[in-house]
Amino acid sequence: MLRACRCRVEADEVTNRKLFGFADGRRWVWNACVAWTEEANLVARSAGASWAPGAAFSLTFLSRLLNQWTEANPWLKLAPKQVLQQVVHDFIKARTAFLTGAVTQPPRFQKERKAIPTMRFPQHVRLNQEAVFLPELGWIKYRNSFNRGRGIPAGKLRSATVRFEDGHWFISLLMKVEAPVATQTPMAALGIDCGVKNTVALSSRVNLQAPLMTDEESHRVLFLERRVARCSLDSNRRALAQRRLNRFRSRISRRIQDWRHKTTTALAKNHGLIAAEDLALKSMTASARGTVEAPGSNVARKAGLNRALLEPGFGIIMQMLDYKQADCGHAFIPVNPAHTSQTCPKCGHVFPGNRLDRDHFECVRCGFEDEADFVGARNVLRRAQLHSLAGLPETVLAAGPGRDCAPAAKAARAHGGSQPRTNPGSPLAA
Ligand SMILES: [Zn+2]
Repeated sequence: MLRACRCRVEADEVTNRKLFGFADGRRWVWNACVAWTEEANLVARSAGASWAPGAAFSLTFLSRLLNQWTEANPWLKLAPKQVLQQVVHDFIKARTAFLTGAVTQPPRFQKERKAIPTMRFPQHVRLNQEAVFLPELGWIKYRNSFNRGRGIPAGKLRSATVRFEDGHWFISLLMKVEAPVATQTPMAALGIDCGVKNTVALSSRVNLQAPLMTDEESHRVLFLERRVARCSLDSNRRALAQRRLNRFRSRISRRIQDWRHKTTTALAKNHGLIAAEDLALKSMTASARGTVEAPGSNVARKAGLNRALLEPGFGIIMQMLDYKQADCGHAFIPVNPAHTSQTCPKCGHVFPGNRLDRDHFECVRCGFEDEADFVGARNVLRRAQLHSLAGLPETVLAAGPGRDCAPAAKAARAHGGSQPRTNPGSPLAA
């Protein structure tokens, strides 16, 4: 399986300058591709067609163009050929995504001030525990902070991406590693419920709180944002203010990311089965509901901005749990989240009125009482356990006992259903 390992690179003055140069070359080629597309479209339109022919964007054709560009601009030759070649690949991918409707925007020009300096090395990258060899750059030291200092896992290196963030260069190594051997010791099962009040509520009656942005910090962000807004466009002052804002924001997001890693590692180590809500389904339904309930466009944008900063990243937590469970040879089962907060864990009665308010749950049939988040976590776990024991398709269980939930089941089918990601060696796979 593939595993990405990211760490900081200790670039000296020369390397630093070279990396920025390569990133500039990369951006130049991208923009040249975009300009070429616009030109080709214009020509096609003047000839009566609506779009330029597809042959004008084939890999061979664009590669030939790239050769011409490098001949005409000798400074591009300083960058490794393969790095520039990757831009062509990326461009074709982005254009295809636009034409097939996967994204709404066609590839656009990358502005110098806005583009993040980045490049990908697909070949000739070598690696040891202290340094990485990159073409045209030689051996560069990196901070081997993986796996708590145990280093990058043994495996075949597929590609390396170098990226400039918060004043430092980072390298992301894509490794092909052996699938881990499953541990056969049966361990505790856990259900997880994600929420606003408690970031993560566990079925074992524990609440975990992510270190999100504090009020003080959000005031500071607002203050820094205003400073950026007050500077005139394209001024050095504005660039400096923007850098300050970015640095502050990324410190917060790094803190949250650190919490995510530590929490998910601890959970994955100690649980043979972790069940969580399949968030793809949840977000889908949430967005449909949101269009009716939140009509104000400015409000939504502001809320979206805040959320982007504040959100604890449930999707990332799920991803981490998924691969960390697989690493330990444990199981991770995403379940359909429909009605997990309205189902009584004791008698199985499903009723919206069971949920008194955001925090409290009281069953109208049997009188069972608990905190709503723990009820959600218990239901998620129960659903996953039933699922793994009976081997039933997840959509059947999603309907829950005592109620016909046709819309939810249909939504799950439309989404391709959610298959359990059980490891073959895991005790739960059988
Ligand atoms: Zn009940």
